[in-house]
Parts: sequence; C-alpha cells; structure tokens
Amino acid sequence: VSLARRLPKIELHAHLNGSIRRSTLKELALAAGLNARESQIIRGDARTVSEMFAVFDVIHHAVRGGKTIRRIAREVLEDAEADGVVYLELRTTPRAHTECGLDQVGYVESVLQGFKDYEETAQRDRRCFARLILSIDRRDPAEVAEATVDLALRYRDRGVVGIDLSGDPTKGRWETWLGPLTRARESGLKITLHAGEVPDVDEETRRMIAFKPDRFGHLCFLSSENQSSLWASGIPIELCLTSNVLTCSSTIPTYAAHHFALHHGRGHPVALCTDDCAVFGSSLSNECAIAIAAFSLSADDLRAITRRSLHMSFLDPSSHDFAQILTRLEAGEEM
Ligand code: 5GP
Repeated sequence: VSLARRLPKIELHAHLNGSIRRSTLKELALAAGLNARESQIIRGDARTVSEMFAVFDVIHHAVRGGKTIRRIAREVLEDAEADGVVYLELRTTPRAHTECGLDQVGYVESVLQGFKDYEETAQRDRRCFARLILSIDRRDPAEVAEATVDLALRYRDRGVVGIDLSGDPTKGRWETWLGPLTRARESGLKITLHAGEVPDVDEETRRMIAFKPDRFGHLCFLSSENQSSLWASGIPIELCLTSNVLTCSSTIPTYAAHHFALHHGRGHPVALCTDDCAVFGSSLSNECAIAIAAFSLSADDLRAITRRSLHMSFLDPSSHDFAQILTRLEAGEEM
C-alpha cells in the first residue's frame, strides 16, 4: 500500500453516503437506535448487489439532517486527503429529510458547506480539491430527475459539475431519464452513467452508449457488440475493483479477472475508483495497491492512469484548480 498511498491520486467515482467514515456511521447508527439486524448489516463488507442496497437503507436511516450531511461531507474530504487524494469528484443523491426540515436544496447546501468547512482547515499544500456531482436515483420519476438537473444548474457556480445516474440497477427505464439528461448536457453539465452492473441489460447499455455520456461507471456486463461500440466511442470508464469483485463475483471472481485488464490493456481510458469506501471496506490507495499487484503495474503505469484520470474529470481544464492539481501530480510522491 505504501507506494500507492504516497502517490497523489484522483478519485472520480465515490458516493457520499457510501464513503461515510465508519466510526461516524457507528456513532450515528447507535444514536438512531438501530436494531440488531441493522447493526449486523453495516458491520461487514457488502457481498452482493442486494446486500449493498440493504447497507444503503441502513446508512440513510442513520444519516439524518443537514448538520450530519455537512459533517460527513467534511469527513470524506479529510479522509481523502489523508489517503493522498488530491482531487475528489464526490457524488450524492439530493434527498429531503422531512422530519428534520431538510429539503433537497438544503441537502445540496449542506454538502457544499461541508466542503467549505474542510477547505477552511486544510493545509494549502496537502489540500484535496473537490467538486460535486448530483445523482439521479433510478427509482425516481422524470419530475425528480428534472428537479435534480435544476439543482445542479443552480449550484453550478458553487462546485456542481455534473449529473450521475445510479441506484438499484434492476429498477427504472432509460427513457425516463433521457429527457432530463439531454437537457443537463445541453446546459453544459457533464454526465456519467452507472451501466452494466447486472446481467441482461445489453439493450439499455446500447442506448446509453448511443447517448454518448462523458463517462461510464462499472460496465461489468458488456456484450461484445457493446464493447466494440464503447471502444470506438472512446468514452472513459470509472472502475471500482473491490466493489465489482464483491458484488459481481459470478462474472468477476478475482481481481485478476476484472475487466480493468481488458480495457487498460487496449489503451481505453479508465480510472481507478472506490465507489463506497465504507460499504466495501477499501480506500483509493488500497484499490491502487490491488491494481499494482493484480495487473503487474509499475509506479509509472499508476502515475499515467492518475494523470489520465484528471483529464477524464469534469473539472474545467483551463481553471486555476486544474493547473494546481496537475502540478501536484507532476511533483510526484507526497508523503
Ligand atoms: P448517496 O447518493 O446517498 O450519497 O450514496 C448512496 C447511494 O448511491 C445509494 O443509495 C445508491 O443509490 C447509489 N450507489 C452507491 N453505490 C452504488 C453502486 O455501486 N451502484 C449503483 N447503481 N448505485 C450505487
């Protein structure tokens, strides 16, 4: 892990509530009076897609109110900094916590306030730069997806850079989100789509590739036809090794069998990401160390993947932050 930890890293696929600090989750779960079954659910690392969503139900039950959202956003950035992440593109689904008087606007404000809290205490030379992506949950109807796009546009000047589609991959239909996603793109927001997380979604994946999002997440299940059009499209993929090995063990039984090798070997742009540190018990440096071991990567290979990840990011390449992050990457090992 040590080389992987020392190298400056870029994280492009991390969900806020899935990346909650485990000690904080434990504390909040206790305060929320979780029962024995729920406590059991959050104790181990998720092993299947349905177990993963059971963990999210428990996390969402425990994480309530703007103050808590603000705290976990700050802690996620602190933990990323400690892990050597220099740029984090965090994503979250804006949810109302009605019993606490928190609406979707307040939710986004709280996350951004957490970013600000972090920035106020971060050391200049170690700081993890952050941007926010708002997620559309596949269970949500078109009106909610439209409202999420509106929110992203409203907070564009304050750090929101794009829209994600995520949530239970067995739910919802692509047609529901096509309109809101098209509007988001036409308004200048970047788009990333979770795709190919379960078997038998080739037609949906085909339509998603035809839409030409800026990035994909996962693509564990990909027909040879879709693979060819993906490669021809050059659309980068966010890859989460531990998450995929744990939840797609039937097709990805080992790290060595992960499709990272296939895409990276071909020169297709890929980023190494965590998905949900808390749910899968990993960190970005751990994921990088796993990639080094499983795919015999050199330190230079990892540096090249990281640099390419920055270019895959939704950050404006002409911005001051982009230039600073690039300088940090080029300076090499940090800790
Ligand atoms: P939040 O949006 O509450 O900050 O983060 C947790 C949510 O992100 C989950 O409820 C789920 O909607 C989404 N999510 C997290 N990990 C995954 C994943 O691996 N696949 C999919 N499809 N959605 C995920």
